[in-house]
Amino acid sequence: MQGKIVKGIAGFYYVHVVEFGIYECKAKGIFRKKGTKPLVGDNVEIEVIDKDNFKGNVVDILPRKNELIRPASANIDQAMVIFAVKTPEPNFNLLDKFILMMNYQDVPTVVCFNKEELADDEYKNELKKKYEGCGCECIFISAKNNIGIDRVMEVLKGKTTVLAGPSGVGKSTLTNLLIPDMEEQGEVSQTGEVSRIGRGRHTTRHSEIYNVCKQTYICDTPGFTSLNLPDVEKEDLRFYFEEFVPFEGKCRFNGCMHVSEPGCAVKQAVEDGIINYDRYKSYTDIFEEIKNKKKY
Ligand code: GDP
Ligand code: ZN
Repeated sequence: MQGKIVKGIAGFYYVHVVEFGIYECKAKGIFRKKGTKPLVGDNVEIEVIDKDNFKGNVVDILPRKNELIRPASANIDQAMVIFAVKTPEPNFNLLDKFILMMNYQDVPTVVCFNKEELADDEYKNELKKKYEGCGCECIFISAKNNIGIDRVMEVLKGKTTVLAGPSGVGKSTLTNLLIPDMEEQGEVSQTGEVSRIGRGRHTTRHSEIYNVCKQTYICDTPGFTSLNLPDVEKEDLRFYFEEFVPFEGKCRFNGCMHVSEPGCAVKQAVEDGIINYDRYKSYTDIFEEIKNKKKY
């Protein structure tokens, strides 16, 4: 039987089988020998050992489309990051780091701004221009007023999407709209040993996948605010800022890192308003952060 690992806790893997539900599985020793470990998002073959109590073994991992380090997961098609236009004010440094981390892992990012009714059109257009400039679709929604949720559904459809965002932006309100039975999905098997995963009594929070509809999954990721930088070398950072790419090779110096070099085409583009100033500022901030990190 085949299913998808929706959660892994303390040596157990919870496998969602579309027709039947969630099985609590252990992984066979073969994986340890092979040096692979099942990941959330893996499509796996299981053997059922206790039909009534939904228990089984993971016996094979099907080929992976990709493998993410952060969040540790497999077969991720895209990421959706949620911020509020206001209350709380978006932390753009965090947003840009998230986009960077996903770019680094070759995962496209959709930026979703919630509480759209709290901002005027001018501000929203500015945000849209900024984030579409770096290759991300930008959606404005109001989870409270049910605005833009159709578009979110369209974007998610048929894909597995990592969902991230700081607290207070309305992520729970949105996920409750998308997955009305989310609470039930979080409860595993009839044993009651694991309940309300990711909320309440589990102090270590894990990524968990929820089934939205046919072939459509959301991977809910905790711990967003303590986002670490990916292991990008400062020399390579510029390649993950999409809007810089057209200017690559047009600077006076070969290998220009667009920081303090004279005759820099990227800096000129910022001055000309072609590249968003705040995105450029994020770049130089992250550049400094990497430089300082490497010193110790
Ligand atoms: P989470 O921490 O990201 O899961 O955020 P919640 O879903 O708990 O929402 C945080 C607060 O924002 C709550 O008071 C919600 O009622 C409110 N909220 C959620 N969506 C909207 C929205 O579209 N507009 C406004 N104004 N408030 C919202
Ligand atoms: Zn340059």
